Amino acid sequence: MKILVTEQQIQDSINKVAEDIRAREAGKPLTVIAIMTGSIVFLADLMRKLDLPMRVGVVQTSSYKGGTTRGTLTINSDMMLDVEGRDVLLVDDIFDTGHTLEKVIEMIDELRPKSIKSAVLLLKRGRQEVTMRPDYVGFEIPDEFVVGYGLDYRDMYRNLPYLAALEESDLVDHA
Ligand code: 5GP
Ligand code: MG
Repeated sequence: MKILVTEQQIQDSINKVAEDIRAREAGKPLTVIAIMTGSIVFLADLMRKLDLPMRVGVVQTSSYKGGTTRGTLTINSDMMLDVEGRDVLLVDDIFDTGHTLEKVIEMIDELRPKSIKSAVLLLKRGRQEVTMRPDYVGFEIPDEFVVGYGLDYRDMYRNLPYLAALEESDLVDHA
């Protein structure tokens, strides 16, 4: 595994994102909705750096893949908050093809929030299949499979304090 982004670099970047959000959302009470599970560590760090009145809820997405077709994305919103008339900030770990964030925004939009913005820790360069982009991005990274700081490979490595790129030799079974 090779370290892609160190703990210190992550914290510096989140400080900048938080400052940017604070400046642009200036004192508005936010309804923060994080997309589980990959964003769990980013959420915990980001929310503590945002000196704003906020409520925090989560949704979980999963995609069920069949054959060669892209998986249908399902969204579990049992642990979401009411968003009608609210300024919503979506938080996700990584913007890859963009389908996940686009679908979650579509779903929330139907609930008539006042505004929707999105913050992601990572954006994978050159991978996007949608036209929308997140409002706040921590880092742009090359097209590699990353783990750590909340991101998993087969549910492992989420607890690493840094971000690492998986290499061929790391693709072993932990079952
Ligand atoms: P998208 O819908 O933008 O293609 O994918 C977003 C989701 O795919 C992310 O929320 C994340 O859960 C997962 N994902 C995409 N790229 C990576 C990666 O490099 N590592 C890990 N662990 N998850 C990824
Ligand atoms: Mg995810």
